[in-house]
Amino acid sequence: MSDISKRLLFWLVLLMFFVFIIIGWNLCNPDSRHVSYTYFLSSLNKNQIKKVHINGNDISFVKKNHSKYTTYIPIYDNKLLNNLLSHHITLSGIEPRKTNIMLSIFISWFPTLLLIGVWFYFMKQVKNNVGRGSRSFGKSKTRIFTDDKVTVTFKDVEGCDEAKEEVSELVEYLKEPEKFQKLGGKIPKGVLMIGPPGTGKTLLAKAVAGEAKVSFLTLSGSDFVEMFVGVGASRVRDIFKHARKIAPCIIFIDEIDAVGRQRGSMFGGGHDEREQTLNQMLVEMDGFDSNKGIILIAATNRPDILDSALLRPGRFDRQVVVSLPDLRGREKILQVHMKNVPLASDVDPRIIARGTPGFSGADLSNLVNESALCAARLNHKSVSMLDFETAKDKIIMGSERRSMIMTEQQKEFTAYHESGHVIIGRLVPEHDPAHKVTIVPRGRALGVTFFLPESDIISISREKLESQISTLYGGRIAEELIYGINKVSTGSMNDIQVATTLARNMVTKWGFSEKLGPLLYTENSDDSSFFSTTFNGSKYISDDTSRIIDQEMKALIEKNYHRSKKLLRDNLDILHAMKDALMEYETIDSVQIDDLMNRKTIRNYTR
Ligand code: ADP
Ligand code: ZN
Repeated sequence: MSDISKRLLFWLVLLMFFVFIIIGWNLCNPDSRHVSYTYFLSSLNKNQIKKVHINGNDISFVKKNHSKYTTYIPIYDNKLLNNLLSHHITLSGIEPRKTNIMLSIFISWFPTLLLIGVWFYFMKQVKNNVGRGSRSFGKSKTRIFTDDKVTVTFKDVEGCDEAKEEVSELVEYLKEPEKFQKLGGKIPKGVLMIGPPGTGKTLLAKAVAGEAKVSFLTLSGSDFVEMFVGVGASRVRDIFKHARKIAPCIIFIDEIDAVGRQRGSMFGGGHDEREQTLNQMLVEMDGFDSNKGIILIAATNRPDILDSALLRPGRFDRQVVVSLPDLRGREKILQVHMKNVPLASDVDPRIIARGTPGFSGADLSNLVNESALCAARLNHKSVSMLDFETAKDKIIMGSERRSMIMTEQQKEFTAYHESGHVIIGRLVPEHDPAHKVTIVPRGRALGVTFFLPESDIISISREKLESQISTLYGGRIAEELIYGINKVSTGSMNDIQVATTLARNMVTKWGFSEKLGPLLYTENSDDSSFFSTTFNGSKYISDDTSRIIDQEMKALIEKNYHRSKKLLRDNLDILHAMKDALMEYETIDSVQIDDLMNRKTIRNYTR
């Protein structure tokens, strides 16, 4: 049912309701009292009545004291007329109201009819939504946005080159599925894009569709979560049915965490509807054949709360991280959006990029737009640097609560912290080399140092573990050396947590303590993960032993802490140089780190 007819129906019902009330009110005529026929006759005989009005069998009469009454003639009384006339009463009357019968039937039935009508309407709705054979794809409330002619291409997405590279193979799959099928390869079904809002996840998914020239189906995870159980699941069915019809295509689900939360987790408190929707999605994902050219792309910024069933092989097993753009990325994004704006000659995207750390792609697009509006307000012919400055201030003020946008000081602080990690990582023995370090915020971390390899740890030597502990404290020590002990921040919490867990495991699980010997001092031996933070061994450990464990852990950590401190103090010049490089480029890679460690001028090349 369209919106207009729905609104019309609403007003009609309202109107009828009022008519009903007014008629009913008039009929019961509140200022006259209903009395028995006997009372009427006795009043008549006592000569108390002044006026009588007859309407069929209904009589209304007025007594001489002006009070009004109504009554009803129970049997045919042929003496009544003479009786009335003999008392000299003003007599009036009308023909019995024939139409009134219809009206009164209508009135008495109206509420019932209304109820039945409403009931039918809802039944139809539910049928539409739940019914397996629902023909009414467009009629059901599902807001699916289909775009057959996507014009977005990879050229429009900048600042996330790694993500772009990872999804570019999807384009080939969609273009020539046969090529991959021939060799028996399985085309991926689902890709999960992870990243903060506004970093271009939707845009990237669209660009894949645009490059492969396929249709783009989009909808949001929150569309699925409905009041009626079963509606979400039926929508999932609808979408996949539609997708099969128009394949090859891309189905893009924004905010998948709205449906895909861990089942039975405390978040939703066992939300039946969401669970059914999620189950339906899993069933559909298992059922469709990606070789037909349907690829599911979902976006989220909370991958940690997703149900693990969604991430299993054959479902969203590909994960693409779309992170906030670094300096070079921001410059390129600005260039993309500046194409549609007349620029003054003084505008330099590089300078603007430098002044906007922590801005997402959407923020930058907004910045260009605001600047253009600002220039238009002042009747300028082109957008100048000053307009950009004004717009930037406006955006930063407006988003004060957002922790993502960093000040220069924060940037510098983070640069020193991360450099500390990198330098120690390079100087201690057996440590994995840092291959990239960035001060672009990611998740809740202000900066990240990436060490290779990041996974596949099966067994580690004691020396390597100690090196890891040293490196973990590198960040905190750098803060301390540069800013003094009073300025050390809480930003090292995670580092400390990991280091402490490592030390505890070294002492209690891996037998690296001379005093305690190679014994297991923990209960849950199945917990073999190196970085597990759970420790549940206190039950079988005496107080004395527990004290020794603490001492041994502390000694281990202190030893490595002081090693780090010495190393960093001896290489303060590198620390400063690396900070400068990070302030300049925001992200530096292993080649540039090599240069810095060798005290050479840093290579600047286009990555
Ligand atoms: P997300 O889906 O990650 O929340 P969107 O893809 O909806 O973000 O981005 C919103 C808008 O911001 C896009 O339409 C685009 O104009 C701009 N934008 C975001 N990221 C980029 C980028 N990497 N390159 C160019 N423009 C971007
Ligand atoms: Zn750190």
